Amino acid sequence: MLRFCILFILLGLAQALSASSYYSPQTPFKTSHKPADLPQLNPTHSFWIDSLGANPLADEGSTGTLTDAADVCIIGSGITGVSAAYHLANTVKSERFPVPHQGTKVRAVILEAREFCSGATGRNGGNLTPYEFFSFNKIQSLFGHEAALRFYAVEDYSVAEMVRIAKESGWADEVDLVEGGHLNVMLTESDLSELQEDFASAIAAGRNVNASWLSREEMNATFGTYNWGVRTPGYNLWPLKFVTQLFKQSLKITPQLDLRLHTHTPVTSISPANSASPSVHRWTLTTPRGSVYCSSVLHATNGYASHLLPHMAGPSGIVPVREQVVAIRAAAPPEVLSTTSWLGNEGYWFPRPLEPSKSTPLVILGGARSAAGPPFEVDTTDDSVINGNVGIVLRNFLPEMFPGLYAPGQEPEAEWTGIMGFTSLDIPFVGPVLSSHSSTPPNLNIATLYKGQFISAGYAGHGMPRAFACAEVVVQMILDEFTGTEWISPAWFPKPFLTWVRDDEN
Ligand SMILES: Cc1cc2nc3c(=O)[nH]c(=O)nc-3n(C[C@H](O)[C@H](O)[C@H](O)COP(=O)(O)OP(=O)(O)OC[C@H]3O[C@@H](n4cnc5c(N)ncnc54)[C@H](O)[C@@H]3O)c2cc1C
Repeated sequence: MLRFCILFILLGLAQALSASSYYSPQTPFKTSHKPADLPQLNPTHSFWIDSLGANPLADEGSTGTLTDAADVCIIGSGITGVSAAYHLANTVKSERFPVPHQGTKVRAVILEAREFCSGATGRNGGNLTPYEFFSFNKIQSLFGHEAALRFYAVEDYSVAEMVRIAKESGWADEVDLVEGGHLNVMLTESDLSELQEDFASAIAAGRNVNASWLSREEMNATFGTYNWGVRTPGYNLWPLKFVTQLFKQSLKITPQLDLRLHTHTPVTSISPANSASPSVHRWTLTTPRGSVYCSSVLHATNGYASHLLPHMAGPSGIVPVREQVVAIRAAAPPEVLSTTSWLGNEGYWFPRPLEPSKSTPLVILGGARSAAGPPFEVDTTDDSVINGNVGIVLRNFLPEMFPGLYAPGQEPEAEWTGIMGFTSLDIPFVGPVLSSHSSTPPNLNIATLYKGQFISAGYAGHGMPRAFACAEVVVQMILDEFTGTEWISPAWFPKPFLTWVRDDEN
């Protein structure tokens, strides 16, 4: 009884968190949800994917012979799947991942239903923003003091690593990585005081917060909007280009890893193979091009996860939610608009680096999902259409927020949708796939129905600063299960993300 009361309180708080999150203005979960469909074959055209030459790996491995077997099969080629390949390559290089058969390589394959990186990562808002203290009070009341600090630490770690890799590898400019900072804009005094309370609590909890507050007058004089602001660290980038470079780099890390990519190869089902041993293939993935035998499987399918794992359909699993983005030309030059990314009034946006032939930048703007009305784009994987009501709000958003800097009535140069993966607690599932969730000890070697299958998915619209680190954790778990070693959590990883520490049972 007590357990149910606690669960009820937690879910109530989680709904409140969803309702106030900038990325999730309305996420009404139902008592039951159907499993997600496979990705649509004719998605809307995203600026990131459909700009000329932007996706050189679009159709990689889509013809010819399909890889027949692998030690690690990764389903999905977004930031999670490709980060996992990158981490796997590093574990192989450091000789931590045992070569299963003497003299042969470790084999890994990424299977992608559509073009390379054509899910949320190729269709998002381009913000790489680690939350500095946003929602601290709610997160602390839901998960406790220590876990709350780790919610922010995992994002700090993830973003720092992504930036380090891009810079050290010399492709930061190629992926348009801009350290423009981030501004939360607050329209009402109640929004302002809520953020100020989060700020105070984060400091009281021991977080070293990096933030500067701007009055309405300062914001108006500097940026042309008469609202309050708080500036924190943040980046914006071209997500598909980042993932493309990371994949290319993963190929080069070690010759001991045989890494393949097959696009246009949807996995339609997963069935047990004959073995229970991690060094032998335990699972058969079925695709329209044939079968792939796998020792370990990683579900990096985010909003689509419940297609292959129907027991993870909501409300306590992962629910697909559609989100909309426009690329719209500003009427003012970059020096007026700055390079910062912004969040506020249910929108998130940033001015892209100026193209040589233009005098004003293209601005990427997403959000406004509440304009869709009930059920607020929840429960759909259809990114082949846009929502007209959301489109109207997005078109008016910037001219209203920054009078004179954007032309009213300006049509976007591109408009598209993508599918996010929401969870009732707004946090991802990271770890072994379980048939139901319970607070069992973290023993990866316990027999489960899905032994050898792992997941990192359900980032609730805030995956860019989380997925890289979550993929690192889940690859370590795959390795540990392979070698029979106990998994030890990194100091920056929040325990509530773990699949076996969820109170919201399936
Ligand atoms: C419109 C929009 C705007 C967003 N804006 C931001 C933002 O600005 N900042 C931020 O931090 N986050 C943002 N997000 C969220 C962020 O994009 C995601 O959290 C993140 O990209 C998830 O990455 P992923 O690799 O887990 O999933 P995805 O990028 O969705 O990749 C999953 C892949 O799996 C493939 N797949 C699915 N099922 C199968 C199958 N059965 N077989 C084979 N392949 C399959 C899909 O085709 C897809 O390519 C946004 C999301 C959307 C949709």
